[in-house]
Amino acid sequence: MALATAAEITNALDFGPAVALSCRECGTRYDLGPKFACIECFGPLEVAYTWNTPDAADVPPVTREQIESGPTNIWRYRALLPVPADVTGKPNLAPGWTKLVKADNLARELGLRSLHVKDDSGNPTHSFKDRVVAIALEAARNFGFHTLSCSSTGNLAGAVTAAAARAGLDACVFIPSNLEEAKIVMASVYGGRLVGIEGTYDEVNRFCSELIGDPLGDKWGFVNVNLRPYYAEGSKTLAYEIAEQLGWRIPDQIIIPVASGSQLTKIDKGFKELIKLGLVDDKPYKIFGAQAAGCSPVSTAYKAGRDTVQPVKPDTIAKSLAIGNPADGPYVLDIARRTGGAVEDVTDAEVVDSIRLLARTEGIFAETAGGVTVGVLRKLLAGGLLDPDAETVVLNTGDGLKTLDAVSAEARPTAVIRPSLDAFRTAVADNS
Ligand SMILES: *Cc1c(COP(=O)(O)O)cnc(C)c1O
Ligand SMILES: [Zn+2]
Repeated sequence: MALATAAEITNALDFGPAVALSCRECGTRYDLGPKFACIECFGPLEVAYTWNTPDAADVPPVTREQIESGPTNIWRYRALLPVPADVTGKPNLAPGWTKLVKADNLARELGLRSLHVKDDSGNPTHSFKDRVVAIALEAARNFGFHTLSCSSTGNLAGAVTAAAARAGLDACVFIPSNLEEAKIVMASVYGGRLVGIEGTYDEVNRFCSELIGDPLGDKWGFVNVNLRPYYAEGSKTLAYEIAEQLGWRIPDQIIIPVASGSQLTKIDKGFKELIKLGLVDDKPYKIFGAQAAGCSPVSTAYKAGRDTVQPVKPDTIAKSLAIGNPADGPYVLDIARRTGGAVEDVTDAEVVDSIRLLARTEGIFAETAGGVTVGVLRKLLAGGLLDPDAETVVLNTGDGLKTLDAVSAEARPTAVIRPSLDAFRTAVADNS
């Protein structure tokens, strides 16, 4: 059999409106492929589209009406994503279009005029990671990878194994071996191979980079390594949804959790695209990053006025955010400073208290990452860094059922009694 020429391979690819990869640092362009770093300067590669090439026609690729008549999942934005137009007909988990909850009770308690919680626990595997994996899956199909892989702080592993199961691909995912029980079960129940590594996430990630260079793994699609440019685009859908759900308006200020910093960086990219394409009015907005004090390399750099990030060894209950050497850290610093936001961190005790506050006021049970964002929201307000009169959005990116240990010591039955009125009366009297 004759080998396909490069041109034939390129023709077979279908990335919808995406036309190239381009270096975020120096702008060098590359053909769409399973690459993630610039050969010239080692900068990260990003997806470039027909509509942001220099010679692009002045016609917007999509209108509000077209988006509104699309499916109630992230594919309503497929004209702005590196996926084929027929993606809706392929087996995938169709994540997104999660609730934007108007959080009046929490707003009142905190003294805010307008607060919404973007609740991404409503995704198929109960975290925001289904968004990024759905885009990486299409890239894997394009490149003919039969095995989907990742290094994960927990949520990503479950999102990858579930997406692979639906798509009929093999999965082999890698996690630090000390993760929460629920995340281990989630990552394993969908089949595929789950490998626990004795080490931190950063060590798992380094191991995966080695594996890509070895014949063992060089034909695999690692969603957050060799498919990272595509994966990262999935986070833009959070920006699109928030704006559309607010009535095609960008909020004044938004609080976003920071692990690698990819999500925060791409939410900013999503807002900028909506403005550029005329889908929303141009207006200033402030982006705030949230970390746990036990893993706060970006907030530490922010407060020290540095623009480089010193790696740390994580020690926090917010394990989904426990990346000690965040790849997009410098971009987070840049975006927080450029938009007039900030990066802040909260202690594990504040995380737990904030999980309980959100649950008690809004009926939303967040995982520890949601405790981090709500905790940072409170701290920024107290410090005068957030405007209490501005339209505010806070992200909850995961489900509290995955991190039960964080609150289980305090969230117990009020009483355990025999089924009798007398026993109840005594218990209630004892408790009041
Ligand atoms: C992965 C993750 C994030 C953000 O990750 P980035 O690496 O910064 O994109 C936020 N919340 C949860 C629950 C996650 O699992
Ligand atoms: Zn470059």
